[in-house]
Amino acid sequence: MNEVFADLHVHIGRSEKGKPIKITAAKSLNFANIAKECVEKKGIQIVGIIDCGSPYVIEDIEKFLSQGDAYEIPDGGIIYKDKVCIILGSEIETSEINDEGNTGSAHNLCYFPKLADIKAFSHEMRNHIKNITLSSQRADISAYELIDIVEKYHGILIPAHCFTPHKSFYGNCTSSLKRIFKEKYDKILAIELGLSSDTFLADKISELEEKAFLTNSDAHSLPRIAREYNKMQLESISFKEFLKALKGEDGRKILSNYGLDPKLGKYHRTYCEVCHKRIPGMAPVTKCNTCDSRNITMGVYDRIEMIKDKQDTQSPKGRPDYIYQIPLTFIPGVGEKTIHKLLDHFGTEMTILHKLSNDDIEAVVGKKIANNIISARDGKSHIVEGGGGVYGKVE
Ligand SMILES: [Zn+2]
Ligand SMILES: [Zn+2]
Repeated sequence: MNEVFADLHVHIGRSEKGKPIKITAAKSLNFANIAKECVEKKGIQIVGIIDCGSPYVIEDIEKFLSQGDAYEIPDGGIIYKDKVCIILGSEIETSEINDEGNTGSAHNLCYFPKLADIKAFSHEMRNHIKNITLSSQRADISAYELIDIVEKYHGILIPAHCFTPHKSFYGNCTSSLKRIFKEKYDKILAIELGLSSDTFLADKISELEEKAFLTNSDAHSLPRIAREYNKMQLESISFKEFLKALKGEDGRKILSNYGLDPKLGKYHRTYCEVCHKRIPGMAPVTKCNTCDSRNITMGVYDRIEMIKDKQDTQSPKGRPDYIYQIPLTFIPGVGEKTIHKLLDHFGTEMTILHKLSNDDIEAVVGKKIANNIISARDGKSHIVEGGGGVYGKVE
């Protein structure tokens, strides 16, 4: 068995010909550049690219496969330079009826083994989505219906950033995923925690005990790839092995989740949209304690405190450790120049964040920055909590 690093949620900004895919994501974020970044800088062995349902991206993938460094494998996935397995995915926004009977919307990560599968899926989804060329578009069906279409093309569905206030199941649709998926709930192998939550928070909800947790970057730019990732134990890198890890089958498993301290996430605490500030206080905060307004963006932490059905966190047996990591871009004093310098010396961000000693780092970037990197790694930095779309800050 091998230990591999996996980040299953990376967006595409533009196609190689410059067609917009995810407008808010970086222009340099195209299929080929993501593959290269994973191999050359990040040290990631499995990457899920989540905008492969766009016909413009499919065109890019076909070109990518024709150039010789990449090929599809029978167990699913595209192998590039024999170092990374690219899993083809599509993020779909579904239309839900929330607990109060109003409309809600949630993001779903759909992964497929072969290019032909996602092509066929994309074709069928044209019946449900207005503009299939763009990322994360709203479909006129619910996730309960979507999962059948995903399975028809041999794919799996994973609820994305499951607690975020605007586009997620727990955030704005329901206090119970079982209510959404009903008798199909067993088909959900995993949920994505999202940047503002962690295992400790999610394990306050008992229906999640049987689900695997994924920590992914949701990267909108190349440097952000792998700001969260999973360490998995696999025999080799493929779609099939990834599935086995989610199921914990034949010794394959998720060994640990590496993620931000949820306080750094953009939606950790409730935020007042009138006063434009994070609202302090005991969770769950549901209204502003300055202006009394209920025009708020609910924090992930607050939301979980509201819907939890366990008093304390009790993780099920075998739940992987959640290891806090602060990506280089969050560390004070570490700018683009410093990152380049570090990468030039040490290869990948994984090595810098997890393997190097203080002395190694100090020799390249000096004492002060080395200290910041090491104390971030050891969880010794002070963090100002994020909320309302504003990231938390390391001080
Ligand atoms: Zn999303
Ligand atoms: Zn207020």
